[in-house]
Amino acid sequence: GEWSLSDKNVYDWSSEEEEPDGRARPVQVLLVKDDHTFELDEAALSRILLAEEVRDREVVAISVAGAFRKGKSFLMDFMLRYMYNHASEQWLGDAEEPLTGFSWRGGSERETTGIQIWSEVFLVDKPDGRKVAVLLMDTQGTFDSQSTLRDSATVFALSTMISSMQVYNISQNVQEDDLQHLQLFTEYGRLAMEETFLKPFQSMIFLVRDWSFPYEFPYGQEGGMKFLEKRLKVKNQHEELQNVRKHIHSCFTNISCFLMPHPGLKVATNPHFDGRIKEIDGEFINNLKILVPWLLSPRNIDVKEINGSKITCRGLVEYFKAYIKIYQG
Ligand code: GDP
Ligand code: MG
Repeated sequence: GEWSLSDKNVYDWSSEEEEPDGRARPVQVLLVKDDHTFELDEAALSRILLAEEVRDREVVAISVAGAFRKGKSFLMDFMLRYMYNHASEQWLGDAEEPLTGFSWRGGSERETTGIQIWSEVFLVDKPDGRKVAVLLMDTQGTFDSQSTLRDSATVFALSTMISSMQVYNISQNVQEDDLQHLQLFTEYGRLAMEETFLKPFQSMIFLVRDWSFPYEFPYGQEGGMKFLEKRLKVKNQHEELQNVRKHIHSCFTNISCFLMPHPGLKVATNPHFDGRIKEIDGEFINNLKILVPWLLSPRNIDVKEINGSKITCRGLVEYFKAYIKIYQG
């Protein structure tokens, strides 16, 4: 197959930073503390990205960002299933199998703001024969008050700066404040980058969850693009709204959008739901089968570039450290 499958299992991690049995798990590498300072776990980041098998490989860094409780980790867990099983048509797995990975650690998730990465970096063969390293990042923000909005902006900016693809996970629609948040986030990122680097960000995917107007714009990527085009069109708007749009267009090399259906009431409301496919709406599953390979298939993933140069895992660690310093002032 195209992937180098590891013998490690996706593991339902429940406690400490240690990795006693060597199984893969989410690792918090960036933490925003209560006093709004940032803590980068350099040791953890190095352990993962400077491992011998990956450190000199070009890196594809995929980030999912957005507010809490909007299904980001849930989606990431399906992305993990794809990374582990993609050689099989049945990568989604058994209908009765609980979902593990980022989200269901020891029951309820702590509401931290920061960045978690999957401890296993995947080696993938691109169709052109290159072997690249794929890093998955789960990003959390709070977006609920001015002070935490600033923290979230920084986390979003950092994750956008170090990723080759940022998936902006939003609920129900692309609202004006989603765009304003995005402008704020990318402005934070651009300010930091202008000191040293010229290149704008790479790919931005607006992922709209619980889309409920499929008769206007159908689910998926094509409907999403038409919807986004309409939403981002700059014409006869108030100047401020036009600027938000121009700014977003000027920041990213690629912008796209995917409209996802609601996953059904069991997913949204049942506290005992454990992620098994059997209890998820068929329409959601059908679109998941399109979305995940669209994001992650070997032909579609792009290596991280900064200033036009492709970056390795080793390089990414250096950039991460440099960017963090900028925000630590
Ligand atoms: P995160 O904080 O964004 O990572 O959100 P989680 O992935 O932890 O999911 C939060 C809650 O939303 C869980 O109860 C999930 O079952 C539920 N959920 C997951 N995906 C969706 C979705 O697409 N729509 C809705 N309405 N709920 C979802
Ligand atoms: Mg989460």
